Amino acid sequence: MTAHSHLFEPLDLRHKTLRNRIVFGAHTANMAEDGLPGERHLGYYLERARGGAAMIVVEPVPVHATAVLTRGNFRHNDDSIIPAFRKITEACKAEGAVMLNQLYHVGQHGDFDLSYQPNWSPSGLPSFHDSDGSHKMTEVEIEEVIMGFVAAARRAYEAGFDGVELFAAYNALIDQFWLPWNNRRDDRWGGCFENRMRFSTEIITRIRKQVGEDFIIGIATASDHNTDIALSNEALQEIAAYYDARALIDYISCGTASYFDFAELMPTFFFAEKLGVPLAESLKQVVKHTRIQAESHIRTPENANTVIAAQQADMVSIVRGQIADPHLANKAKEGRDADVRGCISCNQMCWGRRSRDYWISCLVNPSAGREFEWGGDRFSPSDAPRHVLVIGGGPAGLECARVAAERGHRVTLVEASGELGGQFRLAGLQPRRGQISELIQWYNRQLEKLNVRVKFHSYVEAGEIEDYHADCVVIATGSLPSDSGFQRGIPGMDELPGVDKANVWSVEDVMSRAARPGNKVMLIDDTSDWRGGGTALHLAQQGHAVIIITGAAMVGKSVQRTAGDVTLRQQLKKYGVMWMTESVVMDWRGDGGTVRGLLDGMEVFIEADGLVLATTNIAETTLLNDLAGRDLEVHSIGDCVSPRLAVAAIYEGRVLAMKL
Ligand code: SF4
Repeated sequence: MTAHSHLFEPLDLRHKTLRNRIVFGAHTANMAEDGLPGERHLGYYLERARGGAAMIVVEPVPVHATAVLTRGNFRHNDDSIIPAFRKITEACKAEGAVMLNQLYHVGQHGDFDLSYQPNWSPSGLPSFHDSDGSHKMTEVEIEEVIMGFVAAARRAYEAGFDGVELFAAYNALIDQFWLPWNNRRDDRWGGCFENRMRFSTEIITRIRKQVGEDFIIGIATASDHNTDIALSNEALQEIAAYYDARALIDYISCGTASYFDFAELMPTFFFAEKLGVPLAESLKQVVKHTRIQAESHIRTPENANTVIAAQQADMVSIVRGQIADPHLANKAKEGRDADVRGCISCNQMCWGRRSRDYWISCLVNPSAGREFEWGGDRFSPSDAPRHVLVIGGGPAGLECARVAAERGHRVTLVEASGELGGQFRLAGLQPRRGQISELIQWYNRQLEKLNVRVKFHSYVEAGEIEDYHADCVVIATGSLPSDSGFQRGIPGMDELPGVDKANVWSVEDVMSRAARPGNKVMLIDDTSDWRGGGTALHLAQQGHAVIIITGAAMVGKSVQRTAGDVTLRQQLKKYGVMWMTESVVMDWRGDGGTVRGLLDGMEVFIEADGLVLATTNIAETTLLNDLAGRDLEVHSIGDCVSPRLAVAAIYEGRVLAMKL
């Protein structure tokens, strides 16, 4: 009996039995090389299969030339993917995972930059991916795409997959045919319900005929309650009941959001958990045979077990949770929830890299996508264990200390303050970013388990290093806020006039409650990320009237890649935060500052009681410089090398510790 008994009950799915209810659902890992799955893919999926995932839905294959969407997509019309996929299916099935392949076509929301094809759609409506329009498909073209789905399913079958999942979520081609708003046809493919179902029904029945009975066919769907044109839960119930009555599909996966509203598609920390559960629950009410899967921000094994126990769904897809910790399922099964490294819902390196067309990785788990090079998310013991002294308990130092200890080194971590986490800890105090604090607690627990000696309130100077008798020293002293007020929009101004006045504060001052910025606060947001936006929101929630001045074209420009910027601006609006974009502060007079528009050069004086600087930090290199030339093995990682986001610190901590 495990702590999550419902989650670890096996489940029959057509000809297969899932070992538990945890699925590593479909997502674009974007890892193909020259259109073929390779070693990066193999390592990525194999690690999750080893980690206990019951079913893995490998990232989508475009079914037609007009469906190609990313640089890392698989070849859409080429049997050469069959032997390449077979390596993945055989390896993952040997680890006990049921293997599926998602097949997709996003219809009118394609990407010409990658496909070099016009977008095809039921009725020629505009793309919501970019400014392109689309081409209304002819009968012949509809047939061509149906046969594209069938050919892709045949390749999946021959590659050893146990089934396929048809992508009908987020307003893709299949659900464009379902949805009256998209489907304005008056032929046999549009109009009444039966006609709008014809496209998907043809795909499913022809796939079944092609591959036989022992092959799972699932459908991925999603609800979008933020737009009244999307399919409602009732409409999706009608579709689910239609297929269930005809025993055409084996499961339906329930996500959230769509091309009309991207923010809830990979919900950031601003959103509630278990977002796909209401749709799953409503579909369960209308099906007799079809399994129902819930997805979208089911973060933890506990979340998942609750959903299964309440019979809201038969299985759950946990994608980001298993990117962050590929061994989530096994740890949960062993009652080791406390060891699960939680996803922090940042989207920084998963969607944040996919949106820029790189292969995906993870902020908290830099081995994601590198498993084939790094031996998974596991560590080989050191041949020659040593005493490693890590100086600085921010994300770089924490990861380095943890991994070095995992490898058998004796580790001492010294931290100048009384708490671990460094500036990342302060970020965790921003509104709704508590998952960062949970991650730091996870590091605390891991260091304790690994017998890392942690010394707090220890500001180490160069002359004291020898006292630790360490074999090597890792400097992870981080960075400090800049007090210059430098802004990228006016690079010739090294220091903001008036920045030395008493009522000028850093983000760190605000988040550590050292600042008393007064009622009306001007905040220079020179990084256009959570540093400025999150701090402004924190201040506004404390009752301050805040105006953000940013040189960027929008507040949250740097988090646009994570699909988090719209929600950030919504929250800022809700709390009355004002902003001026493409603007810089020319001086600070103590009672306000002069703001210049970068587009027109117009200047205006804005009154404020305090000024907060959300600007790029300065590397803290004092100890590093003082140790230069010593006969000592010294390494440096993280912000003391160059101030960056936490992802760089964790990555460098891991890389160094794997080499020590
Ligand atoms: Fe989760 Fe962030 Fe990792 Fe994505 S990058 S899996 S959101 S922790």
